Amino acid sequence: MHYVSTRATSASAARNPQQFSDILLGGLAPDGGLYLPAEYPQVTGAELDAWRKLSYAELAYEILRKFATDIPDADLKALTARTYTPEVYRNARADESSADITPLRVLEDGPKGTLVLQALSNGPTLAFKDMAMQLLGNLFEYALAKNNEELNIFGATSGDTGSAAEYAMRGKRGVRVFMLSPHRKMSAFQTAQMFSLQDPNIFNIAVEGVFDDCQDLVKAVSNDLEFKARQKIGTVNSINWARVVAQVVYYFRGYLAATTSNDQKVSFTVPSGNFGNICAGHIARMMGLPIDKLVAATNENDVLDEFFRTGVYRVRKPSETFHTSSPSMDISKASNFERFVYELVGRDPERTHALFRKVDTHGGFDLSGAPGSDGDEFRHVARFGFLSGRSTHADRLATIRDVADDYGITIDTHTADGIKVAREHMQPGVPMIVLETALAAKFNETILEALGQDAERPAGFEDIESLPQRFVVMPADVGRMKSYIAEHTGL
Ligand SMILES: *Cc1c(COP(=O)(O)O)cnc(C)c1O
Repeated sequence: MHYVSTRATSASAARNPQQFSDILLGGLAPDGGLYLPAEYPQVTGAELDAWRKLSYAELAYEILRKFATDIPDADLKALTARTYTPEVYRNARADESSADITPLRVLEDGPKGTLVLQALSNGPTLAFKDMAMQLLGNLFEYALAKNNEELNIFGATSGDTGSAAEYAMRGKRGVRVFMLSPHRKMSAFQTAQMFSLQDPNIFNIAVEGVFDDCQDLVKAVSNDLEFKARQKIGTVNSINWARVVAQVVYYFRGYLAATTSNDQKVSFTVPSGNFGNICAGHIARMMGLPIDKLVAATNENDVLDEFFRTGVYRVRKPSETFHTSSPSMDISKASNFERFVYELVGRDPERTHALFRKVDTHGGFDLSGAPGSDGDEFRHVARFGFLSGRSTHADRLATIRDVADDYGITIDTHTADGIKVAREHMQPGVPMIVLETALAAKFNETILEALGQDAERPAGFEDIESLPQRFVVMPADVGRMKSYIAEHTGL
């Protein structure tokens, strides 16, 4: 299995074939594109039938081995078995089984159709990013040990990504994590989750500033290529291919759990920001999984909803990017979207590159086919099954209340965006699976506003705010940041 960049001409791709392990530790391809497999492995009906009996870890192994062909089967089997255990994904609701890893729950089965919730949020940080990040931690440790290397992950977070990365990398040999967050700007729960980690390879740096200052620091340090190389700096952002492929697994799992035979179809609604999660659904569909519709649900930051309604992709300015009550989807652009656009324009790397150059120069592109537009490929979107919708703060409050009243469970704000939009696209005969991307306890302020009572906390999280915290406070100063990193890596 070889990987190509969405911007690589065939000549450069031929000179530079990449395998799974080559792109595991990286982000963007050197030409600025994103990696995709040269072709999607196909899944047969016989395989799907056989997979109905598998545990989550066994299923993850079967799917990953199609993509990570350069990792020996026995190693991959051990890595997936170690990752997807009921002990790691232990925060399931009391009436659901942790052994399922991503348990399904039928919310409604009526004349309008079947509405199902698939919980991806039972991992250590109570958000779906654990599904991929936990595997990444084990894959990184494995790959680094094999080559006798080390890696220093340097990133900025306003919440979910940073904590998922820290819980995945804690205690892993060869890896350190330096994570910046805006000092006193995260919720008490999120702060406690990250800062209570005592592992010596985790460095929490609270920056005196806002999230943008943290991101600017990461950019400034990464732009110093000499420093970056010497300090072995890497990232784990959502464009990482291994993260995307780990997410493909739960679409298969959801399908297999919601159906009894392969002539049935299901649809998925996915709370979306960077197009990472739903990109994995697209890949599952391209592999032959019988998915009918893939519905992208956005909040007020509706870049993706606008595209899937109109064919216009328009990146938002900072002044047009809203801070919402589903904050993990507060994006100005969708960093994985290029992977889909590449497919939409017929896997043409030059055209993909030209469109994303236009994003840099003009803030977007228009594929609607209207006079003066950049193309008419939007007409092919239906062939890929995509639909969309958007949700607002008022919708989230109403949906959290409805779900509590009608089904007796509390959902988080991102999942509420998903349910709101899923209800607009239900079809009798095709189960609609909504991906639950976080547990409500993480976003308690809004739960309190919606329900007038606190969200339930999973066992072990009751007193998290009172645990001792380990972090340093630093000004937003590039020089100070670099010396702090160098001092702690010893490189
Ligand atoms: C990251 C995140 C999302 C958005 O996922 P993308 O892959 O960026 O689309 C949705 N919900 C929660 C809770 C998240 O942490």
